[in-house]
Amino acid sequence: MKSTRLCLACGNAFVPLRHVPRQQYCSAKACQRARRRDWQSNRLCNDSDYRDNQARAQAKWRADHSSYWREYRAAHPAYRERNRSMQRSRNARRDSRPIAKMNVIRLPRPLDSGFYLLSHADDAGVGKMDAWTVHIAVLSGPTAPPT
Ligand SMILES: [Zn+2]
Repeated sequence: MKSTRLCLACGNAFVPLRHVPRQQYCSAKACQRARRRDWQSNRLCNDSDYRDNQARAQAKWRADHSSYWREYRAAHPAYRERNRSMQRSRNARRDSRPIAKMNVIRLPRPLDSGFYLLSHADDAGVGKMDAWTVHIAVLSGPTAPPT
């Protein structure tokens, strides 16, 4: 009798394919997408070569398709509106004090792993047109400051 197991994505029971003895996700399209997504996010966290390669490939793609997002936004007004309203609510939540101060007493909030927009400090405030999208994986947090 074939043994069934539970899919890591949808939780349904499935019979592993004969040629994939260690199969952990069922064959449903959404679950296979979840498998690839999990594989990639795991790889981004644990493989610095892969991370660098992905960042380089994405930067090259952006350089080769510099007008892609501008044209996408122009062709998809609903997408553009959603972005704008989400940015407005982020702005409303944001502390209105300037981010950088000469005498900061408060510690900056801890940095989470994720994608960030990076731009040269001289260009800060000019806009995000020349910002790099970078992935930062936090390996350890800051140690407590001396008191
Ligand atoms: Zn599934």
